[in-house]
Parts: sequence; structure tokens; C-alpha cells
Amino acid sequence: MTTCTVCELHAESTFRIEGMDCREEVAMLERRFRNLGGLEDFSADLLGRRLHVKYDAARISAATIADAVADTGMRAWLDHEEPVIGTNRQVRRRQALVLTSGIALAIGLALEMAAAHGPSAAGPHAQLVSWALACFVVSLAAGAGATMRKAWSAVRVGSLDINVLMVIAAAGAAILGEWSEAATVVFLFGLAQALEVRTLDRARSAIRALMDLTPGDALLRDAQGERRVDVDEIAPGAVIVIRPGEKIPLDGDVVAGQSAVNQAPVTGESLPVEKSPGDGVFAGTINGRGALDVRVTRLRRDTTLARIIHLVERAQAQRAPAQTLVERFARVYTPAVILLAAVVAVATPLMFRLDWHAGMYRALVLLVVSCPCALVISTPVSIVAALAGAARKGVLVKGGLHLERMSGVRCVAFDKTGTLTCGRPEVVEVVALNGASPASIVRLAASVEQRSTHPIAHAILDHAAAEQITAVAAEHVSALAGRGTEGSVNGRRVLLGSHRLFEERRLCSPALHERLAGMDTTGRTSVVVALDDRPVGIIAVADRPRETGKSAVEMLRRQGITSIVMLTGDSRGTAEAIAAHLGIDDVRAELLPQDKVAAVEELRRTHGSVAMVGDGVNDAPALASADLGIAMGVAGSDAALETADVALMADELLRIPYAFRLSRATVRNIKANLAISIVMKATFVVAAVAGFATLWMAVLADTGASVVVIANALRLLRAD
Ligand code: ADP
Ligand code: MG
Repeated sequence: MTTCTVCELHAESTFRIEGMDCREEVAMLERRFRNLGGLEDFSADLLGRRLHVKYDAARISAATIADAVADTGMRAWLDHEEPVIGTNRQVRRRQALVLTSGIALAIGLALEMAAAHGPSAAGPHAQLVSWALACFVVSLAAGAGATMRKAWSAVRVGSLDINVLMVIAAAGAAILGEWSEAATVVFLFGLAQALEVRTLDRARSAIRALMDLTPGDALLRDAQGERRVDVDEIAPGAVIVIRPGEKIPLDGDVVAGQSAVNQAPVTGESLPVEKSPGDGVFAGTINGRGALDVRVTRLRRDTTLARIIHLVERAQAQRAPAQTLVERFARVYTPAVILLAAVVAVATPLMFRLDWHAGMYRALVLLVVSCPCALVISTPVSIVAALAGAARKGVLVKGGLHLERMSGVRCVAFDKTGTLTCGRPEVVEVVALNGASPASIVRLAASVEQRSTHPIAHAILDHAAAEQITAVAAEHVSALAGRGTEGSVNGRRVLLGSHRLFEERRLCSPALHERLAGMDTTGRTSVVVALDDRPVGIIAVADRPRETGKSAVEMLRRQGITSIVMLTGDSRGTAEAIAAHLGIDDVRAELLPQDKVAAVEELRRTHGSVAMVGDGVNDAPALASADLGIAMGVAGSDAALETADVALMADELLRIPYAFRLSRATVRNIKANLAISIVMKATFVVAAVAGFATLWMAVLADTGASVVVIANALRLLRAD
């Protein structure tokens, strides 16, 4: 995807980078870009092999950047270009070279062994040795090309990366006359890289798999009848037909038909959701037994699923604090080991009376051990796997940073309406005061709520529709955030809202107060309606607490969340009735949106990091001020999807304990990975200095550590 806002001359492009497999290569790009005028910002997604750049289009172009990338020995394609064929050919060529190098090495080793076991039928001794040598040289020639190229480009930009180390090690071994060792190092290193690329591809494809969920064509219905059309050619407004059992190709609204749709691919919900005309459906979800006619609402690239994928990929490109720490460590570590190697080369012969040959050898082993690859990938690979696993369950985490933060949270604040309750309240009672008729109260209320998005407004409008009460046009309507609405109907002022609102405006009589206090205890929410400042009625709405709320709260407590708080704009009586049902004992009621922010800040002072769970209605500021904003049921709402730190696609409260479990599992996984790689390295540094380790063992250990680390991280894909 390339966006180019020419008028401002700021441009952004995303490149796919071939050959960017290791942090070292990113560092190389960083150095090369440093003196590239006009480049404003860039971020690398190592696992997606993508590079996102912001630049001044007046000074440089995408081509300049691609050239700069080429300088480092890597290749860059703009993201929409398809390098598939070339890449495949290159991968296959590389594999063939590794294979050749391996075969030549095996033959060489066999010949060497034959030579060592004395003269035999295979020929005279000296001849065997020279044949073996020839095999090693062939093996080296086949295997070393790619590494040498990469090493050369690293040296040119003044960096010492793993490729340089390997070339030094292999060359050193050859100088020492250890040809078999040199060939082994080169071969194992090539094999390691091939394996690493394979395993990392698995982590990447977990996210890519989400993208493969949507079918490439759709059954379009228009004036000419029905026909199959490529989804890229379908614009919003078109009507497509979805047969039973088919995957839904695009986002849209059902216009005819009825069916249960399995939304698990997008929202992670396990139960199918009943869809009938008026309901929205998402691309990538699976139609059940009925046929649906759907009016397309979005282009293929804008569907909810496409956004999810985009967000997950962007999240992966972000760096978690632990990651930066490891990188800083690696930056010190590699030169430190090189220094140590130099010391070993000089000191061990002097101290242990070894010959210079043995000292050099130990130093070379140390150099190979110094590759911090496993260490550097340990954090990103865990995070990528966790993010992808979560996305599959309908939980979008916007980056490793948030996962790490989440693992330290001990206090969770919940918004009530729409979060702990279903957010689909129903009118259960209309109380007429001062001689008004119930129908006239509902009419007034419906008139000023017509444009409101608040769940209570929907309840009132639905009730009016059911009772066949038609609303009239209202003027000067304004929403009173967290309190209610006001407007004028037929020239008379209508005010509608919470008990608090009426207290604030001094419109609440002791009799009204009494009446409201009596109604609140059952968990209903009372809305007072006033005409020209005179209360004329109360509309009681009831909203069911979500079924899974209670178990979600229990699970969170068991997972070590010590304080669970309800924040609500509703009255205290209503809030407490619902909190009691869910097992929440800390209730802060009658809060305006800004009071919720203050409550979050107060919680932070007492409990440290605070997570806030909300639905985005009247709680967006609180979500933003919390250390971690968790938005629920965002599948339909782009704004919430973009702004939350953690977005739950479905309205499923049990995903919250899941997300917390995952965050902790991820942090544990990262620690385990760091431990594995550090122990592995430390062991080999000691073994190398002591002279127990051989070169091929060092390379094998390095590869082994990387593979173990990746395999361990991939477990997070299936965590639940
Ligand atoms: P919560 O914090 O539980 O999500 P809100 O902050 O959205 O609740 O609203 C707080 C209270 O304000 C509601 O309980 C209701 O009494 C009143 N209110 C807010 N907006 C409206 C509206 N559009 N119509 C009726 N009442 C409203
Ligand atoms: Mg709310």
C-alpha cells in the first residue's frame, strides 16, 4: 500500500525487503539511511520483512530509497509489486547451493576418514587427502557466496554482523589448515539460515492466513442477473448473493434472507450469530444454512478483516521495550566478544603454553559464538506469535508494548452500560407524573433522542416504534454527555436524562427524588423527562448484565487482578444492583465522562497501572487516559478499532481474562527465550575458552538456540 499526499510532499511507502532476516540487517539499513537526506522516519517489520518509510517527496523518491537498500546488498520492492517469482527462484537457488555444499562436505569428510584409517583399497593416502581437500573447497565455494556478499555490504557500512564473523571464522580455519572445519562452519551456517527462514515463515503465515479467509470472487446480482465477479471489481452499493455454507467475500448489510453466520474468523465468537435484514456481515465469516442478499458497504481493501490484518502487521512492526533492551545489549555484546576473542588468541597460548594455532582456534570458536541472533529474535518472535494468536481469537493488541504493559496491570476498571451490560436496554416501565399520558412522554423522549447514539436512546426509539408512537421533529437538540439530551419540540423545551442532571438543574423535587430512589434498587435505569422544566414522566429502562460477566470477573480475580472497579454515569442504586450481581464491590457511580478520567487517575495512584474496559460511548476519554484502553465489540466501529490499545472484536467479556493470561504467558515466554539463549551462549563461551568446543559445535549451538527459541514462541499461537 502506498499513500502519497502530493500536496504536502510528505510521502509514505511500504517496501518488502528481501534479505532482511536479522536485526543486524535492520541496523545496516539504519546506518545507510542516516545520511539519506529527505528521509523522515522509518520502521522495520522484521518478521513481515517490511519497511515502512516516511519521506519528503520533494527531495527523494521511492526509487532513491530502494537504491539505498540495494547498497546494503538487500533488495526492496514497493509493497504492491509482486516479487514472488524472483524470490522463489532465489530461495530455490540458495537451497540448491546449501545442498551442494553439504554433499561436497559429506564426501570430503568420508574421504578424510578413509585416509585416517590407513591405506586401503581406495587408493594411496596422499591422494585421498588431496581429494578430500578438493571436496572441502567445492563445499566452501558453494556455501560461502551469499554470506560473503552480505558480509561485504556490512563491512562497507562499517558494521560487524554475523556474516562478517562467519567469514572471518571460515577464513581463519582455512588459514589454520582446518579445511574440513571451515567447510562445516559455512555449510551449517547456510543450513541454519535456511531453517530460520522456514520457521519464521511459519510465524508470518499465521497472520497471512487471516487474509486467505476471503474468497476472491462473489456472486453479483444486478439488472443483468447473477454472475461471478472478482471482488476487487465490486463497489459499495452492489448487491451480492451468499449461498448457504459460503464464505462472505465483503463487508455489507443484509437486505434479504436469514441465516446464522459463523463470525469466529473475525470476532472469535464461538457461536453463530443470527443475521436478518438490517444486520451487518463481515468479510471472512462463514454463512450458515440460509441464503443472504447483502448490500456491499466497503471495498475489499477496507473491510474489517483487512483492517485487522493491517493493524496486526503494524503492531508487529512496533517494538516492545524488552526488544529495545535486548538490542542495546546485543550492540555491546558483539564487540565485547570480539575483544574477548582477540584476548583469547593472544593470552591462552601464553597462559596454558598452547601453540598459537590452538589459541587462534579457540578465538575463532568464540567469534562464532558471539552471534546474538537467538537473543535478538527471542523477543519479537514471541510477540509476533502472541499477537497473531490473539488476532485469531478476535483480540487485537496494538503492539508488544501493550502486551508487556498488560502483564503488569493489577487494577481493571469497567464501564457499565454497553460493557458489563449488554448495552441493549429495553423500556420496562413508563411512569406518568403530573397528569401527562405515557404515550406523550414517550413521544417527547423519542423526539429528542432521534439522533442520539446512546443505548438508552435506542431503547426509547424501539419502544416508541413498538407502540406505534411517531416522533416529531425536534430542534436545537444537544447531547449532554453522560447526563442526557435536550431540545425543543413544537416550541416547548424538552429535557431528558439522569437523576443527577435534574439535581444539577435544581429540577428535582423531594417527591421525584423519592420515586427515583425506589425504582433504582432493582438495577433499572430511570430517565426523567421534563417539559418546560417540569418533570412529566420517568422512563425506566433495564439492561441485562452480560451472561459471562460474572465468570469474567471471577477469572480476573483468580489471575491476580486485585481490584476490579465499575465506573458509570448511571445512578448509584442501579450501579450497585448490577455490580452486586457481577461480584464487583468497588462502584463509582454518577460520573460524567471527565469524572471517569479522574477516577482512572485516582486508581492509578493507588494501584499502579490501570486498564480500562469500555465501549467507547461516554468513556472514550477514560479509555485514552488509562494505561491500557480495552474497547469491546469494535467489529463495527472503526474509530474504536483504531484508538484502543486492545480491541475486542466481539462483545465477549471472557476475552478479557484471556488477554491478561496471554500477556503474562508472553512475558514468561520472552523470559524463557532470553534464558535459553543466554545459557546457551554462556556455556559456549566457557567451552570455547576452555578449548572443548569446536567450530561446528558453535554454529550448531547457535542455530539450535534460534530454532528452540522460535519453536517455543510459536506455542503462543495456540495459547488460550
Ligand atoms: P455508563 O457510564 O454506564 O456507560 P453513560 O455515561 O453513558 O453511562 O450515561 C450515564 C447516564 O446518563 C445514563 O445512565 C442516563 O441516565 C444518562 N444519559 C446519558 N445519555 C443519555 C441519553 N442520550 N438518553 C437518556 N439518558 C442518557
Ligand atoms: Mg458506556
